[in-house]
Amino acid sequence: GKGLGKNTYQYFTAQMNIAVKRRMTLESALRRAVMQKDFVLHYQPQVNLETGEIIALEALVRWKTEDSGTVMPGDFIPLAEETGLINEIGEWVLREGCRQAREWQDQGLAPRRMAINLSARQFSDKAFLDMVTRVLADTRLDPSLLELEITESQVMRQTEGMIMLLNRLSEMGIHLAIDDFGTGYSSLSYLKRLPIQKLKIDQSFIRDITVDPNDTAIVVAIINMAKSLDLETIAEGVETAGQLALLRSKGCRIGQGFYFSAPVRAEQIYPLLRQNNLY
Ligand code: C2E
Ligand code: CA
Ligand code: CA
Ligand code: CA
Repeated sequence: GKGLGKNTYQYFTAQMNIAVKRRMTLESALRRAVMQKDFVLHYQPQVNLETGEIIALEALVRWKTEDSGTVMPGDFIPLAEETGLINEIGEWVLREGCRQAREWQDQGLAPRRMAINLSARQFSDKAFLDMVTRVLADTRLDPSLLELEITESQVMRQTEGMIMLLNRLSEMGIHLAIDDFGTGYSSLSYLKRLPIQKLKIDQSFIRDITVDPNDTAIVVAIINMAKSLDLETIAEGVETAGQLALLRSKGCRIGQGFYFSAPVRAEQIYPLLRQNNLY
């Protein structure tokens, strides 16, 4: 009766208050982190599968906290997107990634492309193009050494405005890659409309590639489709020699994953860049 209803209501409000408070605490902590720039980039090499050379690096953001240690992007990027803080975090990531790429070049290392992840919300920000232009100018990084990664699901929701933005970025000489490819079922005709250079095959297809014939078939289809469109393919999440051998035999040109290196801090990637060859 009424009593139970009231208790249930009180129970739910109590639970809601806990959830709301948790979120508010996390949100204000993230706001503070943005002000204090409590982030760090880890870098993971992208490797030419024929030669073992490092051709690019992907920058992956982490949040450094005093009490909870390192927070992974999966645990704060969604909140950053919801609150709009992603625009500021994204600008910091781009600036730091470009700065680091330029610093390595100034230290005499061979130039490699720096790949930066973008959220949908950054794309719809009117100031985005100006921000990218400013960061490239400030850091003096050649635009052809910057690669922006957009997920397939973001691209699937493409609007005329988004295609125009991609064209502008491409005209600037910036490379564009489709991240998590294969999860969104986008069509050939779709891809042909976009000024992209690279498809990143989602790691879910690579995981069982040596044991699941369906996954092998999907990956082969993506590699061949990419070839017909004159696009590069990179396999994500390469963890074993078996996966590597299969990908090479199928003509996948680039790979990324724990087999070569986990994402690590700049100081740890430096010796790998000097050595250059991961075979
Ligand atoms: P992603 O762009 O698909 O990045 C690849 C993720 O796979 C990374 O997780 C990486 O550490 C992990 N990974 C790399 N090699 C292997 C492997 O061999 N095996 C397995 N199992 N995993 C591997 P991470 O760093 O936790 O990032 C997760 C996601 O967070 C990224 O997925 C990306 O969507 C997002 N993210 C990371 N940094 C940024 C950023 O600066 N901005 C935005 N908007 N999103 C970011
Ligand atoms: Ca990515
Ligand atoms: Ca990915
Ligand atoms: Ca992903």
